[in-house]
Amino acid sequence: MGALLEYGALLALLAAALLLLAAWRQRRGVRQGAAGRATADPAAAARLAHADERAAAADRDAAILVELVGVGAVRVAPDLTVTAANEAAHRLVGRKPGTMAGRSVLEAFTDHHVEEIARTALTAGSALGEISVRIEQGPTLLARARRTSGGDVWLVLEDVSELRRLQRIRTEFIDNLSHELRTPLTTVSLLAEMLAADADSLPPKAAERVARIEVETGHLAQMVNELMDLSRIESGVAAVVVDDVDLGRLAASTADRLRLFAERHDVALDVVVAPALPVVRGDRERIGQALLNLLHNAVKFSPAGSAVTVRVTSAETEVIVAVEDHGQGIPRTALPRIFERFYKVDRARTRGAGGTGLGLSIARHIVEAHGGRIWAESEEGLGSTFSFAIPLAGPNLAATPGG
Ligand code: ADP
Repeated sequence: MGALLEYGALLALLAAALLLLAAWRQRRGVRQGAAGRATADPAAAARLAHADERAAAADRDAAILVELVGVGAVRVAPDLTVTAANEAAHRLVGRKPGTMAGRSVLEAFTDHHVEEIARTALTAGSALGEISVRIEQGPTLLARARRTSGGDVWLVLEDVSELRRLQRIRTEFIDNLSHELRTPLTTVSLLAEMLAADADSLPPKAAERVARIEVETGHLAQMVNELMDLSRIESGVAAVVVDDVDLGRLAASTADRLRLFAERHDVALDVVVAPALPVVRGDRERIGQALLNLLHNAVKFSPAGSAVTVRVTSAETEVIVAVEDHGQGIPRTALPRIFERFYKVDRARTRGAGGTGLGLSIARHIVEAHGGRIWAESEEGLGSTFSFAIPLAGPNLAATPGG
């Protein structure tokens, strides 16, 4: 967090310096014109000379700052030639100082991704991407590009190797841990089940405790399974099967899987599918799991006697699935955080419901792995609508043979 803040501060400083530089360059252009006309007035000429000195000093300051910051800063002309690059940029991409300016972006970085990022920023205004430098143990760089008012592009490079390494370690740790936990948990779960089956022969208090053990081990087993799912999806190990998916049919079959659960909660489940829905490309089982998680929550947080509706519609470039409930809703402050792993709005409120706080996180990963997006709208006390959209042009997912 501290490192991130430091990066933020450095980036802000760098941005300020660059702005200063750009503003001064513009002013200088105007002033040079004015100076040509105003030399007849000695006082005005002196003022202009002084202003020029100050601007030159600001220029030098900005240049020092650009060199000083740890992030790489590269300026790219509209013809995709590097016109300036600081020392950090050379270091990050493993080049000798002074060997980037004058080359094309492709030559300077030997990576077509960077060229793509610069090109996108030139046309769209800004772009973001992650690149791995192709030298032995080269860093992973986050590249942010922004078009300047003068039509050039500033490319800022941040080394995120350590962050990515830690994320990988965390994912592997969770995966190993959940693997280790699964076997003893399954045994405890089975034993609790057997005890519960003999509840009649137990004193009432003991029977009640056995029932609680059975429920809680069930929750634990669910959490471990979800943790394993999440780490697999996050690390990309989970096989992605690419197929034509009819999201209307998928919504109907997923709702059917939850019908018993909904009946037990006295919640009606409706599915409304728009006609002539196009299919999307994706992994049916995984998208079904994402929808199941949303539906499960919707029923879980709905009052008895209310209804949950799944709507499937198509837009120009995507198919949208929305799950609407009339439950307790989510406070505005919590809304931006609910897709984080383990996040629960109010632990006391959801304790009885026995969730793990992982369901939405899993849903988000699945949807994003399909190049889609997921979001939630909610009014506290009135209900929530969770939606996701899967693009019609499928992502570049490698098909898993026979999967
Ligand atoms: P959980 O397993 O706890 O349901 P999720 O990741 O699925 O974990 O959800 C995270 C939290 O978001 C829940 O604990 C709950 O506080 C809130 N939440 C999710 N869906 C709804 C909903 N439909 N209505 C109200 N709150 C919800």
